[in-house]
Amino acid sequence: MRIVLLGAPGSGKGTQCKVIVERYGLLHLSSGDILRQERSAGSELGKKAQSYMDSGALVPDQLIIEMMTKAIKNAPSSGFILDGFPRTVKQAEELDKTLAKAKKIIDIVLNLEVDDKIVEGRITGRRSCPKCGAVYHIKNLKPKKEGICDKDGTKLVQRPDDTIEVVANRLKTYHQQTEPLVDYYKKAGIVVDIAADKDIEDIKTFMFQKLDEIN
Ligand SMILES: [Zn+2]
Repeated sequence: MRIVLLGAPGSGKGTQCKVIVERYGLLHLSSGDILRQERSAGSELGKKAQSYMDSGALVPDQLIIEMMTKAIKNAPSSGFILDGFPRTVKQAEELDKTLAKAKKIIDIVLNLEVDDKIVEGRITGRRSCPKCGAVYHIKNLKPKKEGICDKDGTKLVQRPDDTIEVVANRLKTYHQQTEPLVDYYKKAGIVVDIAADKDIEDIKTFMFQKLDEIN
């Protein structure tokens, strides 16, 4: 089974990915992880990517496509779930071409949908402990004493990436790039929209039901 998982930052993509991987024994192909692996291995692709990142530029489509197609070719026959790739229509087209050469297709696209306001609340409310890394939320997961880590009494901080400016910007980019991608896959009739603001167990049940139908 070959799955593409789409979801904005803060949509709970990581959590859902994990439960799917566990249940179906798929290979988890996260573009972020693969990029980090290539860089730490010092591969030719990794070095190229590093040079873009050092200069503050986005890693170009072609490089990401090369990295991901390499990883896909080594995937087990049980299949894989793609996370963070494809991110653009161009990447999706290249992915389809690569799969077509091996007489394969993407079977299903799970599209986690959540309102921007909810995502903004989830992310901007996060507070973390600089000492032990514990993560809290000012509404959903409060520490016993406001602003203080339960485990070690350290003052909690908001990470620079968790501010409203950064989150709003990431959401804007996500919508611009991903909405055309959803349309691309809708033409192939393989998109399942999932209301990701529901209870986590309900989302899981719904997802498994859809995946069992095609597995
Ligand atoms: Zn702590």
